Amino acid sequence: MAGIMFQDITTLLLNPKAFKDTIDLFVERYKGKNISVVAGIEARGFIFGPPIALAIGAKFVPLRKPRKLPGEVISEKYILEYGRDCLEMHVGAVKSGERALVVDDLIATGGTLCAAMNLLERAGAEVVECACVIELPDLKGRERLNGKPLYVLVESH
Ligand code: 5GP
Repeated sequence: MAGIMFQDITTLLLNPKAFKDTIDLFVERYKGKNISVVAGIEARGFIFGPPIALAIGAKFVPLRKPRKLPGEVISEKYILEYGRDCLEMHVGAVKSGERALVVDDLIATGGTLCAAMNLLERAGAEVVECACVIELPDLKGRERLNGKPLYVLVESH
């Protein structure tokens, strides 16, 4: 789209050491924190979330775009920079009281992470933190997370 600078994470994935170092930074932070759920946001949260989940011994819960999950779902609509979207999670994927980490590649306006947290909290989970590789701080997405901590590896201005 004209005037929009897209931050591409696929070049990171081409470098096995850089990709592993990225995952290791998250694993170091979250291991031993009694986190039983890593929730990854479609699509690029599915790249970073599963290796973190495996390494810390948590289950991986995909938060998907509408009509992708086969079972019964709960849905959360949200506003994007350009339009609207919705995330869905399987009913029963998360139990009340579970401690959850939300993972995505990037936070821009924060709307996507906010919807993801709402889904988990509606299911009774406690969101411990949100984790992204990249933050676009100029868009102030952090301010939309209702005080929930956000951990990022890189800021891009
Ligand atoms: P937000 O809801 O914070 O405005 O947007 C974040 C969501 O949009 C994330 O799921 C992220 O993958 C995607 N996104 C928005 N801008 C970019 C970008 O420049 N690069 C990448 N990789 N993802 C983006």
